[in-house]
Amino acid sequence: MGTTPTTPTRAFNVDSVRSEFPLLQREVHGKPLVYLDSAATTPKPQAVLDAVAGYDMHCTANVHRAVHELSTEATEAYEGARTALASFINAPRREELVWTRGTTEAINLFAWSWGRTNLQDGDHVLLSEMEHHANIVPWQLLREQVGIEIDVAPITDEGVLSVDAVLEFITDRTKLVSLAWISNVLGTINPVREICEAARERGITTLVDAAQAMPHANVDVQAVGCDALAFSGHKMYGPTGIGGLWARHDLLEAMPPWQGGGDMIKTVSFEESTWNDVPMKFEAGTPNIAGAIGLGAAAGWIAELGPDVIASHEHELLEQCVKRLDAIERVQLIGTAPRKAAVVSFVIDGMHPHDVGTFLDQHAVAVRTGHHCAWPLMARYDVNSTVRASMGAYNTVEEIDAFADALERIIEVFG
Ligand code: PMP
Repeated sequence: MGTTPTTPTRAFNVDSVRSEFPLLQREVHGKPLVYLDSAATTPKPQAVLDAVAGYDMHCTANVHRAVHELSTEATEAYEGARTALASFINAPRREELVWTRGTTEAINLFAWSWGRTNLQDGDHVLLSEMEHHANIVPWQLLREQVGIEIDVAPITDEGVLSVDAVLEFITDRTKLVSLAWISNVLGTINPVREICEAARERGITTLVDAAQAMPHANVDVQAVGCDALAFSGHKMYGPTGIGGLWARHDLLEAMPPWQGGGDMIKTVSFEESTWNDVPMKFEAGTPNIAGAIGLGAAAGWIAELGPDVIASHEHELLEQCVKRLDAIERVQLIGTAPRKAAVVSFVIDGMHPHDVGTFLDQHAVAVRTGHHCAWPLMARYDVNSTVRASMGAYNTVEEIDAFADALERIIEVFG
């Protein structure tokens, strides 16, 4: 597996993109599926399915351990995927990419290992009001263990997090700023580059939750200037159970291992063990080999089309979606920031979001309803839950219209 290309190598054509996704060919309740739940998880293109199946069918073996041919091939594919992902996010070094189960595990790893080593009683961690639970609860666990304090930068009613709002909460006790790049509820694209720059000038470490940025933005850790970044494979057309933590090499070097076992050691005796080099120091036990290989293929797939090209296609979908929903009187959009990815949350006056989701399902439209693992954000908008339509490279304007038509009909009949 080679590295991912930096410029698109394929022309974008939504029909041909769609045809690569077997899941999108199926029907639900006898109607063509309209999949608008990509912020929860994305279907996988054939290239990813083939990469996973290729490992399972042709070179199933454990990595890093045996000298036989299958293990050599598996290790090459697995480490090749690391190279592909490192290149995808423009990491200075491939060793800076630690495989994890996903964003949640990546943030927990960072909080446990970096947090317990670098933070002390009285130090502050700064988050924002729009964080996913995955970027809240690990810091609360750390608060219980170490005694840190958590500050929360507010957002505007439109769902904008300004650099100034973040700066206002920074004091000389702030040691870490940890923020979502793109909100999974509001779709807001946060000014992470400017925030990381301001933090760096003040000697503050930065962690970016890129769970939603990987499928919707051009993720370049050097351009963003963050110290660490977390992501999930299954939100970027890759498999579930695989993702990563990227962090600056010197940070990883100084961080202690967080799980012990095979692969993460150099030597073991009952008296003392020594740790393997980065990144394997953080990868105890047999990893998700097929998942990593599939994720490498997913990064390659996105890179071939071009993240910017995908984002501009999704922007068209977003504009159509907002236009159609704005025209429905009882719909209230939650999150109307000027810089938004194709994630649209809304509530309908007098209708419970779960009912809306269930009725939409009858029209074969798959959306998410609930709190989206962002309870504090729900409280900020004084709602318990929202309906969320989230788009991907494979969605069409016709699907957005089918969704909006179904919504109008539901309101007419049940509302
Ligand atoms: N952060 C954000 C912004 C997310 O959207 C999600 C997934 N909804 C997560 C973190 C957690 O990702 P995962 O469940 O894949 O670990």
